[in-house]
Amino acid sequence: MVNDRKERHSIWLANEDIHDADEPYLPALLEEAFLEWSAEASGMTAFRSGQYGIYGKDAKCHGSAGASESSTLAGIGIEEIVQTAVRSVLDNLAFYSTEYGEWFVAGTPIFRRHCDKLFAILVYVAPAGTQMGEGELGAQALHYRGCFYRVFERVYVKDLLLTQERSSQESSRRDELFQAAKRLYDQIDVTSVLNEMLRSLETLYPQSEVYLYLSQDYVEGDPRIRPLVFKNTAHDIVAKAFLDGNPAKEKDRDGNTRVAIPLSGKQAAYGVLCITISAGKRSDELDLPAFLLIADTAGSAFENAKLYEQSNLLINELRLINDMTKRLNQSLKLREIFQFATTELLTIFDADYCCVLQLNPKKDVFEVKSSNIPSMASETFSPEYGFCGMIYRTKEPLIISDYWNTRVVSSRLMDNTGSRSLIAAPIFGDGEVIGVILVTHKQQNFFSYENYKLLQVMSTHIGLAVTNASLHAEVRRMVITDNLTGLHARHYLDEQIQRRQRKDPFGSLILVDIDLFKRVNDTYGHQVGDRILIQVSRIIAGAIRQDDIAARWGGEELAIYLPGVRTEQALRVAERIRKQVAEETEPSVTVSCGVSEWTFDQEKVSVESLFYRADMALYEAKNKGRNCIIVGSST
Ligand code: GH3
Ligand code: MG
Ligand code: MG
Repeated sequence: MVNDRKERHSIWLANEDIHDADEPYLPALLEEAFLEWSAEASGMTAFRSGQYGIYGKDAKCHGSAGASESSTLAGIGIEEIVQTAVRSVLDNLAFYSTEYGEWFVAGTPIFRRHCDKLFAILVYVAPAGTQMGEGELGAQALHYRGCFYRVFERVYVKDLLLTQERSSQESSRRDELFQAAKRLYDQIDVTSVLNEMLRSLETLYPQSEVYLYLSQDYVEGDPRIRPLVFKNTAHDIVAKAFLDGNPAKEKDRDGNTRVAIPLSGKQAAYGVLCITISAGKRSDELDLPAFLLIADTAGSAFENAKLYEQSNLLINELRLINDMTKRLNQSLKLREIFQFATTELLTIFDADYCCVLQLNPKKDVFEVKSSNIPSMASETFSPEYGFCGMIYRTKEPLIISDYWNTRVVSSRLMDNTGSRSLIAAPIFGDGEVIGVILVTHKQQNFFSYENYKLLQVMSTHIGLAVTNASLHAEVRRMVITDNLTGLHARHYLDEQIQRRQRKDPFGSLILVDIDLFKRVNDTYGHQVGDRILIQVSRIIAGAIRQDDIAARWGGEELAIYLPGVRTEQALRVAERIRKQVAEETEPSVTVSCGVSEWTFDQEKVSVESLFYRADMALYEAKNKGRNCIIVGSST
């Protein structure tokens, strides 16, 4: 099999012939073949007496050797005779010989090996009288042809090998490129893509300098990656490539070649890849299509990695928001919500300080509701002051990269903590600013734009939680408050008495009933009756301590529970109320009161029994003529 192939190869090579297309290469081949032939044939006598020359189809001499080696045939001065011989052979494709003066000239055609096309003429010149027949010169021509084809085959094989070597080089380069592209697409983070790209370029173009100019995401620390700045666009091919979206090339004063190629994906351009080949290096080292391919692949891979990174960030943010909302909504207590927000924001943003303020519309101040700065706890600020005031005015979030340099407003928070970076956002409730979140860090430029956006989203959720909790508190307040009098509702009083009984040693209850109220209603109408009821309630609210609980017991009966108070003191409170009602109501009414008490040494005091005894005492007071107070029996 191997032999077979070898044989086939040799036949194949012998079948190869020169073609018309090879004509331009013939002079060199003729010359080289002539040198080989003359070296082999120089022993012949004819060489000593005359001179040989090889001529091409163009009738030009491509080598001569023999008696007067130092000069060409033309140099002998018989140029014309020789040319006549050459022309004759060319025209007739046959041997030609002549004697002219003192010279003998002969020429014979040399044909291709597989067809009868002439490709050279062998000429012999010698002194007149020399014998050189068609047969002899023809044999020498055949010898020359043998040498010629040997040279031709050698060159042919060399050519083949060179082509093969080139194509194998090319294929290994393609392979490297393919591998590089594959590695690029394998990377899912931006930094790895950039590293891989620069590494591939360094491998493919070891003699060159490669730089990457990025419009954003400038990676600090890698000297090969630089920020893209637009200074002198007209003279800067990097900026030009970025703006045009096309590759740009230039030669600098030192003869170095620079090529700049935009690094872009489907959505945007991200930077420019720049390669410099110094003047000394071969410029064909830069295989531009390969470089373009790498840049193109890197652009797409970079974009993919960026999108992946962004979606990861987004997922992370959503997760954070989701977690926070869930936990915020677990609580309906405002204090807890503010506290939780502070802790959470400090962690999420890796911040140094956080402060959550709520607007108190009654006092028209912002109150610090939670903060990790002890000195700020329960501080209040005017709605015009500082960053809080700014946000209150503009209803816009804020990002400050260096407070020390910009100092748009003065801020106690920033000054006291030595903070330089700030992100802040309003807390909205029903479209109005109801609070402000301030998050700070001592380092300048600490917060990113993403941080700023995220805080905005979080503040929305905090706003919702605050609103929910406020609504809940409001509903609760409504549930435990009596509408008409503003005093507590009866069930709240019941609850509170029971609660206080668990921790106090004693307490008193006063029942207050307006005297002859039916008559007041009948005389002045129900609306005036209501007004009197409100007046009496205000008198009661003003006569008791913070801890005491006044409630509307029902109708025009009101009740006051005084925790930790014995009968004597309760009597004084009741007396104060009785007197004030008699003096201050308009139209004037009076009240009767029944007082009862419980102490810890009594075995079991139910709320019912406490009321029952007060009610009995009240009944007694009515019987006694009204506008008086009776203390009920202790059991
Ligand atoms: P006295 O307590 O001194 O024995 O006489 P009285 O007329 O006040 O009698 P009683 O306490 O039994 O009557 C309660 C009256 O109070 C009945 C009702 O007309 C009036 N009343 C109860 N609740 C309201 C209320 O919310 N508004 C008004 N205007 N009147 C009420
Ligand atoms: Mg009554
Ligand atoms: Mg009454």
